Amino acid sequence: MPNLIVVGGGITGVTSAYALSRRGHLVTVVETRRYPAMETSYANGGQLSASNAEVWNNWATILKGLKWMLRADAPLLLNPTPSLHKYTWIAEFIAQIANYRANTIETTRLAIAAREHLLAMAQAEGVDFDYRQNGLLHLYHDKHSFEIAGQANTLLREGGLDRYAVTPQEIAKIEPTAHGQFHGGFYTPSDASGDIHKFTRGLVDACVRRGVRFLYDTAVDRIEATASNVQLQIRTQGARVGVMQADGVVLCAGVDSRKFAASLGDRINIYPVKGYSITIGLNDDESRAAAPNVCLLDEAAKIVTSRLGPDRFRIAGTAEFNGFNKDIRADRIQPLVDWSQKLFPGVATNAVVPWAGLRPMTPTMLPKVGSGRRPRVFYNTGHGHLGWTLSGATSQILADHIDRALA
Ligand SMILES: Cc1cc2nc3c(=O)[nH]c(=O)nc-3n(C[C@H](O)[C@H](O)[C@H](O)COP(=O)(O)OP(=O)(O)OC[C@H]3O[C@@H](n4cnc5c(N)ncnc54)[C@H](O)[C@@H]3O)c2cc1C
Repeated sequence: MPNLIVVGGGITGVTSAYALSRRGHLVTVVETRRYPAMETSYANGGQLSASNAEVWNNWATILKGLKWMLRADAPLLLNPTPSLHKYTWIAEFIAQIANYRANTIETTRLAIAAREHLLAMAQAEGVDFDYRQNGLLHLYHDKHSFEIAGQANTLLREGGLDRYAVTPQEIAKIEPTAHGQFHGGFYTPSDASGDIHKFTRGLVDACVRRGVRFLYDTAVDRIEATASNVQLQIRTQGARVGVMQADGVVLCAGVDSRKFAASLGDRINIYPVKGYSITIGLNDDESRAAAPNVCLLDEAAKIVTSRLGPDRFRIAGTAEFNGFNKDIRADRIQPLVDWSQKLFPGVATNAVVPWAGLRPMTPTMLPKVGSGRRPRVFYNTGHGHLGWTLSGATSQILADHIDRALA
């Protein structure tokens, strides 16, 4: 059986390793950090949300984004400092408006297919990740945005999603804890949530039981691929350099996949789109009762939320185009806290853990799954704002592909 190296121990790397080991491949995962899932797969929005599959490549979103750029607390922030990567990415993103419809439908299908794979992995291996399937409620504050959302809803339904419009009265029944005036909403009963970090760590344990090897504190510096094998130059914490050999390499390096792709003759234009989250500890009965149970997506604030077990409420948002910067900015965290206090006034915000991560985003907003130009080079990367939602499916597509390619 082929022996494969997976670069990256986030959700895409670990689901890939698991899918490949189940097919009998000998797998080694190489991860720079001391533990798995410490980068973007650490504290994301938690949503397994096919209903969030609409790609952002349309004029309505871009115009909204331009207006937001004038507001300091807006959900979109673009550092105007010249950067070739940023501006070429934006140009390609705009060029993809032509594929808005097709890419939205494809993402929806992928997200629906991913559900059963992710749950099958968790069930087969007994992974507890605070999963709950209470549906996702998309909230709209005004008539105009609600009507525009109706058009996207047609595409999501075309992709196979059961998502329907709800009135303010129905919103109050679906999520009685939410305060505020809403014009309307869309509800997707089949959407769910869970803790990406807990899931990934649990799946790592399952991988280890299946014989997958994990090398932590180990960075891959360089990859060479020939017709007969791949060679990876690695660096451990003590700066020792070694070479690993394998029959194939799978790149799941998140925002770092682009540089590896370039060195291997592939162009995968991943931009690091920064986002923030807060995790509110629900440490008293009143807070637990006042926090929502369904996943929420507030259209105006571009905020997503998940209830993670009884005691945690995760709120995430912001798309910041500011390079590889991972600083946690107080002025980006405060709008998330303010939003919680406004919609869920009974939730105490005295135990708030902030976090920032970089979404590995392609201009099409679709991941790259499959072969590179060089032999024995494979990718499962570029999952953008939906890596948690999509990785159950992309890991299977990758494993199918590798089975065929290395047969
Ligand atoms: C604020 C925010 C909210 C989000 N909310 C949601 C949500 O609600 N639902 C959803 O579906 N998605 C969400 N996402 C997106 C999702 O979290 C990401 O798509 C996903 O975590 C990306 O996983 P990954 O494995 O590609 O990258 P990562 O998790 O970043 O993993 C890549 C790994 O590769 C390692 N690595 C990099 N370079 C090397 C190297 N040279 N050698 C060895 N290892 C290397 C890194 O250390 C890292 O561990 C959100 C993202 C953010 C930022």
